[in-house]
Amino acid sequence: MSDQYAVVGNPISHSKSPLIHRMFAQQTGQDLDYQTLEAPLDGFEQAILTFFAQQADQPAGLNITVPFKQQAWEMAAQLSGRAQRAGAVNTLYRDESGQICGDTTDGVGLVRDLLENQGATLKDARVLILGAGGAVRGVLEPILEQSPALLVIANRTASKAEQLAQDFAEFGELRGCGFAEVEGQFDLIINGTSASLQGELPPLPAGVLKPGGWCYDMMYGAEPTPFMVWGEQQEAGRVIDGLGMLVEQAAESFRIWRGVRPQSAAVIDAVRAQLGS
Ligand code: NDP
Repeated sequence: MSDQYAVVGNPISHSKSPLIHRMFAQQTGQDLDYQTLEAPLDGFEQAILTFFAQQADQPAGLNITVPFKQQAWEMAAQLSGRAQRAGAVNTLYRDESGQICGDTTDGVGLVRDLLENQGATLKDARVLILGAGGAVRGVLEPILEQSPALLVIANRTASKAEQLAQDFAEFGELRGCGFAEVEGQFDLIINGTSASLQGELPPLPAGVLKPGGWCYDMMYGAEPTPFMVWGEQQEAGRVIDGLGMLVEQAAESFRIWRGVRPQSAAVIDAVRAQLGS
């Protein structure tokens, strides 16, 4: 039987992960199967234990998505340093002794998409990130590792942004505030709120995007998000959705499981064609 992998969430039928990982497997000649697994809202841990017990004799792994990333973090016996600090796990695998290990690849996915696919430079850039939820917490460390001049976290609930800025202060120059308190202009604005899911735009002060600055929404879909439309109206140098981040986080999970990093460009194109965006 092929090695078994899956993405666990609830709901999960919409997930693009099986499409992405099957393309990676084909491209790299790996014999694996990748499915969706809908865990009951009150039965996540049991679903994970059952999955790994069924794959006792062969390599296996899981991606974890909404709403279980924090529960995966709590149940993993071992965590990578970046997962420990992110407070969330999107990748589970077993070590040689059979212990369940957790990692987070969302942040690496975002930074790889920005640097390698989009040709961005984060070094010495002024970066504004919107939101202070799980997604933003997971990307702060990899962004700060690129040595931006400044990273400002702005959130509807300002105290959460301030807390995040404190938690990651050792990694670089960062501040947390409410949207109305954002000052100055930025080379790159990243939307990591879930406002786009509700068809809303975070209330940004006028003039926060530098002329020619870039806008990146972690969301993706068939239509541009309100934030992406706003970016076009501000005459942003580039407006980018989160599809590349999705594929790059998957590529990093695949590397952790299989020891080989797939090429992502053709896969991004294929998923985009399927989305119709
Ligand atoms: P969370 O629920 O953890 O956090 C949501 C954040 O959005 C909070 O900061 C919240 O503010 C803010 N928010 C919600 N509604 C609004 C609004 N109407 N206006 C302004 N701010 C708002 O979500 P996640 O962090 O897990 O996910 C955030 C986004 O990132 C989602 O759109 C998700 O799809 C995307 N994502 C994309 C990935 C990819 O691979 N491309 C990977 C992971 C996430 P407050 O604190 O005030 O409530």
